[in-house]
Amino acid sequence: MELNQDVQYIKGVGPAKVKLLNNLGIYTLEDLITYYPRDYEDRGKPRKIEDLQDGEEALIKAFPASRFHVINAKRNMKICKLLVRDETGTIEIVWYNQAYLKDKFIGGKEYSFYGKVSKKTGIITMNSPVFDSENETKNTGKIIPIYPSTYKLSQNVLRQIIENGLKMIDGKLQEIIPEKILREYRLIGINEATNKIHFPKDFSEFKEARQRLAFEELLTMQLLLNNLKSKTISAHNGIQFDKNVKMSDVINSLPFRLTKAQLRVLEEIDRDMESDKIMNRLLQGDVGSGKTIVAIISAYKAVKSGYQMAIMAPTSILATQHLESFTNVLEPFGIRCELLISNMTKKKKEEVIEKLKNGEIDVLVGTHSILEENIVFKNLGLVVTDEQHRFGVNQRSIMSSKGKNVDTIVMTATPIPRTLGLILYGDLDISSIDELPPDRKKIETYAVTKGMEERINNFIKKHIKEGRQCYIVCPLVEENEEINAKSVMEMVEIYKNQVFTEFRVEYIYGKMKQKEKDQIMQEFKEGKIDILISTTVIEVGVNVPNASIMVIQNAERFGLATLHQLRGRVGRGEYQSYCILKYQGHTDTIIQRMKVMQDTNDGFVISEKDLELRGTGDFFGTKQHGLPEFKVANLFEDMDILKQVQIVANEISINDPNLKKEENQKLKTMINKRFSGKIEI
Ligand code: ADP
Ligand code: MG
Repeated sequence: MELNQDVQYIKGVGPAKVKLLNNLGIYTLEDLITYYPRDYEDRGKPRKIEDLQDGEEALIKAFPASRFHVINAKRNMKICKLLVRDETGTIEIVWYNQAYLKDKFIGGKEYSFYGKVSKKTGIITMNSPVFDSENETKNTGKIIPIYPSTYKLSQNVLRQIIENGLKMIDGKLQEIIPEKILREYRLIGINEATNKIHFPKDFSEFKEARQRLAFEELLTMQLLLNNLKSKTISAHNGIQFDKNVKMSDVINSLPFRLTKAQLRVLEEIDRDMESDKIMNRLLQGDVGSGKTIVAIISAYKAVKSGYQMAIMAPTSILATQHLESFTNVLEPFGIRCELLISNMTKKKKEEVIEKLKNGEIDVLVGTHSILEENIVFKNLGLVVTDEQHRFGVNQRSIMSSKGKNVDTIVMTATPIPRTLGLILYGDLDISSIDELPPDRKKIETYAVTKGMEERINNFIKKHIKEGRQCYIVCPLVEENEEINAKSVMEMVEIYKNQVFTEFRVEYIYGKMKQKEKDQIMQEFKEGKIDILISTTVIEVGVNVPNASIMVIQNAERFGLATLHQLRGRVGRGEYQSYCILKYQGHTDTIIQRMKVMQDTNDGFVISEKDLELRGTGDFFGTKQHGLPEFKVANLFEDMDILKQVQIVANEISINDPNLKKEENQKLKTMINKRFSGKIEI
């Protein structure tokens, strides 16, 4: 039995079905048996006809009480009806276009039917039920798995194929979790779990199966992460930064007063930095809450204690801007800050590399380029990652490995739930900046549908004439026939050549050359461009305090988190700022989402609403954290399993850090397989 054999060899799978399975992402026997149900229907407990309620799905056991008759309703529609009864009542069964069922039912024999009940004006019917004859349990009499998507396969057919696949496996899946862990945590074996996740006899079997499979998923992930962090597992050998270096020296030199929240967070960081514990801190704070200055002050502490500091940002525009902020504050203290991004001259880059190695640079501000192997520090002590959700886990750990026992701060405007935080950072401490600087004006947000074009354009004109600038954001770069949404190019045509001919209109999108993007952003920053039309590339970005209007086209196409991030590009200066959300569609969800954006500027409230309105979705998705998706485990609900897993994983990591022992070999293979191409142990 080969797990990677093609699905075509499974009983019941011909060429046509191979295609349909492929459409579901199922190519091999393994794909098939790990295509887990999304839900189950309990078709095990029969109900009495007199107890049935309108709208419910139910199982009944009943005898035919009429002949099977077929009514030609319309040209292509045959309605088939059969009355059945049990000792409590009679119900009418209805099928559509299934006249071939005619000879299936024999008077005096009992059948099981499972389907949706409808009860209207005294007539009780069951529509298109599945059924079994006496002693048959193909469709009823048990718990039936419901698969996430079956495309053009029916649930019944897919279920049968999976059953055949499991028969081929015949209990021969390899166990990867060491025997003693299975015993200690009362986990069932992999074969039992696989069978039971598809075909549980009852709820407790499902729970056992799920527990085991989620445990395995979380364990492999945790082991991988432990391995990435192995150098920092013994946490009490961190750098003790100098107690005599006072953050207040920088704080007092600033042109503004820090908020209470910023001060509290700095105290937390200061304490961590002075202690021998390796700091691993997540700094979360809404857009505009002032995270950068916290990083700058922490850098001061590190540098004045004799170490180098590095901060990594996701784009070169942002890195360039950070360099400016760092230099402004730190240069007066004799701290040397430098930039490292990909589009620098070779000569300049070599100079930076050289100086960094010699310790002639104190603070390095850069992009992913910092991760390159030839970037070597003399004495790195503190690493900060900005907009951390843009980086993978492994990138962060490469960064830390450039120093010895370095302290780490990751900054994000995207609130991370506790569970995900635990997985991503292990023993992570969280600091929150939960207040904005006092002088901020609320960004006025208006959600509008069609017919406001003229007014919006006049509004923009008025503000540009007063000296302000404007962002226009579109979901697409170019027009697309299949997607009914505005594109950057379409807006350029309209705005540049028709509506705003007297202003300078430019555009920017992700796939443009980096050099061009930087050029455009620079000119926008300098006020040379009045209107900037873009995709979401500006989501993470620069500070242009003079920009006071943002118009988002087809706002219904963006997640709330993205809308919030985008909106954070305006309202960064002294001017009253505006965000206009143009949307299409009238569904409740769209309207509610727009309302949330109108009503609040608070990122935490928005993220909660986002969760509420569309489930966990991709907002907190593991994907954007560089992790693969889980098939079974749920980061929000499996906290208990996660805690167990962390104990187990830490034990394994301490006893066998590189998974060399025989008992852990299969785990290691599984980890490399699951994360192949991404990260390897
Ligand atoms: P974010 O948290 O989104 O990264 P930034 O660090 O870019 O926010 O800060 C946004 C702006 O607010 C910057 O121009 C910064 O100088 C300014 N700022 C930060 N803290 C304060 C404060 N306490 N009072 C006034 N302005 C502040
Ligand atoms: Mg920022």
